[in-house]
Amino acid sequence: MDNKTVGILGGGQLGRMLAAAAALLNVNVVVLDVGHHGPAKQIISPPKPELSHVDGAFTDPEKIRELASKVDVLTVEIEHVDAAVLESVHIPVHPSPSTIKIIQDKFVQKQHLLSHRSPVSTFLQVDSTVESIHEAGSKLGLPLMLKSRTLAYDGRGNFVLRDLSQANDAIAALGGRPLYAEKWVPFSKEIAVMVVRTISGEVKSYPVVETVQKDNICHLVFAPLRSRDSTLASRAKDVAETAVKSLQGAGVFGVEMFLMENGELNMRLSWSCDLYVNEIAPRPHNSGHYTIEACETSQYENHLRAVLDLPLGSTALKVPSAAMLNIIGNSPDFSELTALKNAALSVPGASIHLYGKAENRKGRKIGHITVVADSDAELRNRLRPLLEALPTGNA
Ligand code: ATP
Ligand code: MG
Ligand code: MG
Repeated sequence: MDNKTVGILGGGQLGRMLAAAAALLNVNVVVLDVGHHGPAKQIISPPKPELSHVDGAFTDPEKIRELASKVDVLTVEIEHVDAAVLESVHIPVHPSPSTIKIIQDKFVQKQHLLSHRSPVSTFLQVDSTVESIHEAGSKLGLPLMLKSRTLAYDGRGNFVLRDLSQANDAIAALGGRPLYAEKWVPFSKEIAVMVVRTISGEVKSYPVVETVQKDNICHLVFAPLRSRDSTLASRAKDVAETAVKSLQGAGVFGVEMFLMENGELNMRLSWSCDLYVNEIAPRPHNSGHYTIEACETSQYENHLRAVLDLPLGSTALKVPSAAMLNIIGNSPDFSELTALKNAALSVPGASIHLYGKAENRKGRKIGHITVVADSDAELRNRLRPLLEALPTGNA
């Protein structure tokens, strides 16, 4: 493994944590991202001058080809890349460009999932016109979830239409991008499963976790998922693994799901289900950060093992209870995070990860804190001072 070089499209926090895992395996990493000081590039110094990082956009065909010329295998830390160019390079790309293409258009992703009999909420193509949105509202009911098909993250690209009179606001907010509509899912919980897929197509899952979103951004993750239903974890794993098996290429995938209090009949699938797949990320995922401290092998290390065709590590939890708290900016001032950082340094079992972002701003992911404990009660006690120290607007 020492002599392999992995190229990563994107140099944010996921690239940074991939690079940290790569360093322990003596795997070289070269990053394509704008500038030289992003979160990933800050922590990697290429061993040879010819391997120096590529300064450019992960959507720029020439830069992607330049990155490909320096490495043995390409992978991504973000799905909004130029998949057509990835199809044309002459080295392995994981996950495969066809998978990235399916996932980067949420409407195509939903069609793919439905055609592979994964449970998804009913969805419809809509045009960016008031009439088309009204028609979707009358077919799927209100509230209606309108989503941008492409370039979405952290809920930027979603509009909840509570009243048909908001159609124009939705078009303005979603900026004329291609849209689709999803039937509203009155979920009781959001859950997620990280699944790692090998080059030969075998899959292995991490424990099912509960994710808590605030303002559409992941706020907290709890591992493992607690439920009175003893079948839930294995059913959720099955759904996640089936979905990931339907895609091509190696690496970790984050499968976000909705859990319904009571199963309802899914008209398209004609079966009753209490689990829906929301979306899949073809890369390490926020809901898998906790694996660094809480599992035998982190999602980052297993992603690298998968794309390098090395044996996968165990995905089992090595602690009884774990949580991950995202540190989200609230203002341009980094000093708003001082109390939280200090609290994290004084809580036993807490590990703070700061991403080295150059700027703070509202809604920006600046870092995260993982907390591990011997019991859920101890976890709650350890989490309390951290939640109390969150900057105003996060709590
Ligand atoms: P991410 O940062 O996870 O990639 P995203 O921008 O791709 O976010 P989604 O995951 O599609 O957005 O939606 C964000 C959140 O909106 C979900 O976590 C969930 O809380 C809510 N949501 C999404 N779709 C629906 C739906 N059909 N019904 C109800 N709530 C929904
Ligand atoms: Mg998404
Ligand atoms: Mg999501």
